[in-house]
Amino acid sequence: MSGSTKCDRYAISRPVEGSAGQTGSWRVFRPVVEREKCISCGLCSLYCPEAVIDSELSIDLVFCKGCGICANECPKNAIAMVREEK
Ligand code: SF4
Ligand code: SF4
Repeated sequence: MSGSTKCDRYAISRPVEGSAGQTGSWRVFRPVVEREKCISCGLCSLYCPEAVIDSELSIDLVFCKGCGICANECPKNAIAMVREEK
């Protein structure tokens, strides 16, 4: 395939921040980082489809969709998905 690179086959998405827009009030769970467990590997930030986890592990909840991918990928179980209070 012309113009493609090996990286094109990787499943890791690279969307821009907030590609699906602001989340609004429908999110059911929000991620909470338990910093004492964190080893700063960066996997949560790498896999977040909304790219809303920064290098300080601050999560922009305006755009976070609560998908739980960050929590699922964390090797130290350092991210808890906590139910939103309505
Ligand atoms: S719950 Fe989903 S959208 Fe929110 S920070 Fe984690 S991976 Fe990103
Ligand atoms: S994936 Fe888990 S251990 Fe790695 S930086 Fe994120 S919270 Fe920390």
